[in-house]
This record gives sequence, structure tokens and C-alpha cells, in this order.
Amino acid sequence: MDLTFTPAEEEFRTELRSWLSANIPQDWARPGYWDTLSDDESFRVRRDWERDKADAGFAGIQWPTEYGGRGGTPGMKAIYDQEMVLAHAPRTVNPLGLTFLAPTVMAIGTDAQKKAIIGPLLRNEVVWCQGFSEPGAGSDLAALSTKGVRDGDDFVVNGQKVWTTNAVHGDRIFAMVRTEPGTERHRGISMLMIDMNQPGVTARPLKQMSGASEFGEVFFDDARTPATECLGEIGDGWRTAMLLLSFERGASGISQYTEFRRQYDEIVAVARTLGRDTDPVVRNDLARVLTELECLRLHSMHVLTQVEQGRDLGFEASMTKLQWSEAFQDLWEVYDRILGEHATLDELPDGTDLRPLHAQAMWSRSVTIWGGSSQVQRTITAERVLGLPR
Ligand SMILES: Cc1cc2nc3c(=O)[nH]c(=O)nc-3n(C[C@H](O)[C@H](O)[C@H](O)COP(=O)(O)OP(=O)(O)OC[C@H]3O[C@@H](n4cnc5c(N)ncnc54)[C@H](O)[C@@H]3O)c2cc1C
Repeated sequence: MDLTFTPAEEEFRTELRSWLSANIPQDWARPGYWDTLSDDESFRVRRDWERDKADAGFAGIQWPTEYGGRGGTPGMKAIYDQEMVLAHAPRTVNPLGLTFLAPTVMAIGTDAQKKAIIGPLLRNEVVWCQGFSEPGAGSDLAALSTKGVRDGDDFVVNGQKVWTTNAVHGDRIFAMVRTEPGTERHRGISMLMIDMNQPGVTARPLKQMSGASEFGEVFFDDARTPATECLGEIGDGWRTAMLLLSFERGASGISQYTEFRRQYDEIVAVARTLGRDTDPVVRNDLARVLTELECLRLHSMHVLTQVEQGRDLGFEASMTKLQWSEAFQDLWEVYDRILGEHATLDELPDGTDLRPLHAQAMWSRSVTIWGGSSQVQRTITAERVLGLPR
């Protein structure tokens, strides 16, 4: 395992840092700043920011130059992710398009799809949703029932998706649709790319306990999409989906560590303000979480080294998901225990604004569900990595 970055990668860090210090608004580092904006405003500001970054050459760090990317190393991508966290840059508005769709289109898209999809994605001009989950198909994705019927050159799509991130702000959705009637489970499914700005598509926001609506429900009611908008072969959507999901892993662990470590320091500060930092139970909790975070840092560098060496992590990626999501959730459970009766307050006696911290504590509940629940990751690890019997 290599714990260092190359001189060329460190040079990239210096260049990026200097651009960030000249271009990132100072307000963004203020705790709670993003909560002062409405969902729509925050979306617009973040979208403009992504376009500016792309114009300055800081987008598609690892994408090949033929697609307008920088052709950088996984190490450069890890540095980029880390520096965005350190600069208090907001998370991307287009995670599903950038992380999943773009590399899949580069790998198996038609020339027309590559031309139409990748450039706009680099500048975040088209925001993509992922239409996998349905009310009856989450962990068991093969149980999906949204149907697509061929009508001339088009598919006509009917059905419902749920928990769709960016449902309300999305422009297009890559959706798993059963296109061969009478087929079951993994067969006869296609991944169709569908325009969300058409009369046959309705997106309704779902309100979360934090008050935000980052996801929603999407209804297809005779929605249409040309058959040429199928990614991969028609009827072979399962294979496309597996390829697409394999792009989730990579270098992001380092940025997660950077972000979680900063949050850890904020939680320690709350413990000090409340005089809870001398409580042996709290100290024990904080020491455990810090150890988990250090394990996350080391594991992330291990993963990065493997990726740099061109090794496919395969099912080991499930262990990474499990590790970061459980460490993050543990961190925020410790926060809740430190707060105790103060958990209902927006502010501490010294004026510390607790609302951004509360929002993180609420958000942490979701991370062991999305992207494959912890139970499912454990099963994959047991069966596919350790070779235990089913
Ligand atoms: C914040 C957030 C954003 C999301 N964004 C998207 C999105 O953009 N697009 C999208 O398509 N989906 C999205 N999802 C949906 C997410 O992928 C599903 O919630 C997830 O796959 C779990 O499916 P489910 O909710 O149907 O739960 P279920 O599959 O019904 O699971 C319920 C419980 O049973 C357990 N369980 C299920 N099967 C097994 C098994 N075989 N063995 C052991 N335990 C099992 C699960 O682990 C879980 O604890 C999002 C979810 C969240 C919370």
C-alpha cells in the first residue's frame, strides 16, 4: 500500500488549491450557509459552480482527454475530491450522471450516445436521475415491474420508480424497464434513457425528516423514448446495470475520510462545550470512532493503490461501502449521545449553531440503505469474497 501521492499529483493539488482560493466564495465555509438557501436556489448555485469548474479545466479529472477530461490518475481524482472537501465546496448536483452513467456510456455507449451525453455531463448541463428502485423492488431489483412496450421506433413506458435522487430537478433518467413481456427476474430488462421533461413523466418530491426533498417518486404514464436511447443491448439491461454499478467504487474514500474527520472535530468541540469530554463513556466512544476513521483512511489508501495498479476490486467494493457507511453512522450516533437532552435545541449556550450538525445526524441514517443496504453488503462479502456457503 502506498501512502503518498506522486510529485506530479502534488503539483496538481497546488494548481487546484490556488484556483479554489481565488474562486470559491468565502460564505460557503460558514456553518449552515447552505440551509439559508431554498432547495431550488441551492441547486442553481451548485450547478453554476460546476459549470465554472468545468470551464477552468477542473472537471472530468480522470476522464480521457478525447471526452474533454484531464486524463488524470486515480490519485489526482482522490486529491481533487479531498481538496473540494477542504475548500468547503458543495457536493456535486449530478452524482449519478458523473459517477455511474458517464463511464458506462464511455464503455458501451454508441457513438451517438457518447456525443450526446458526455460533453453536457462534463459541464453538468443535463442532470441525470437513476431509476432503479420501485415500491416492490429495492434490494431485490430483479422484481421490478415498470414496463416498456415497443411502438415503432419508440418504447412506451408505464410504471413507477421511488427514492429517485434529484427527481424534481432531473432532466433525464436512466431507468431499468422490463421490455420483454412474460420474462422474469434478470431477463428481458433494458436500461432506457428517458427525457423527464415530457407529459408522460411526473416527479413528486418526498419530504425527508430534515425538511429537504433530495429524492422523490417518478411516474411513467405512456412516457416515450426512442429505442436508440437504450444503453447496452435491448433486453440485456441487467448486464448494463451491473457494469454501471461497478463504477461506484474508486477513490472517493479519501474525500469521505477528510469530510468525516472534520465532522469528528466539530463533534469533539460540542462535547467540550457541554463539558462532556471528561466523561469516560464519551471518551471511549470518541476513541472508537477515531479508530474507525483511521481504518477508513488506511483502507481508502489501500483501495487507491489497488486501483492505481489497475486491479479490479470486484465484490471487495462491498466491504468499502460497509466500512465507510457504518463508521459515518457510528460517528453521528456518538453525537446524539453526547447531546443528550440538548438534542432538541438549535443552538448551544455558547452560540454554536447545531442545525447543520443535526442535519448530518439525520442524513447518516440513510447511508446504510442507499447504494445497497449493509445487510446486502454483508451477504455479498460472505458469499462472493469469503466464499461462505449460501
Ligand atoms: C437517500 C437515498 C437515496 C436513494 N437514491 C436512489 C436513486 O437515486 N435511485 C434509485 O433507484 N434508488 C435510490 N434509493 C433506493 C435504495 O437503493 C434502496 O432504498 C435500497 O436498495 C434498499 O431497498 P428498499 O428500500 O426497497 O428496502 P428493502 O429491499 O425492502 O429492504 C428492507 C430491509 O430488508 C433487508 N433485506 C432485503 N433483502 C435482504 C436479503 N436478501 N438479505 C438480508 N437482508 C435483506 C435490507 O437490508 C433492509 O434492511 C435511495 C435510497 C435512499 C435512502
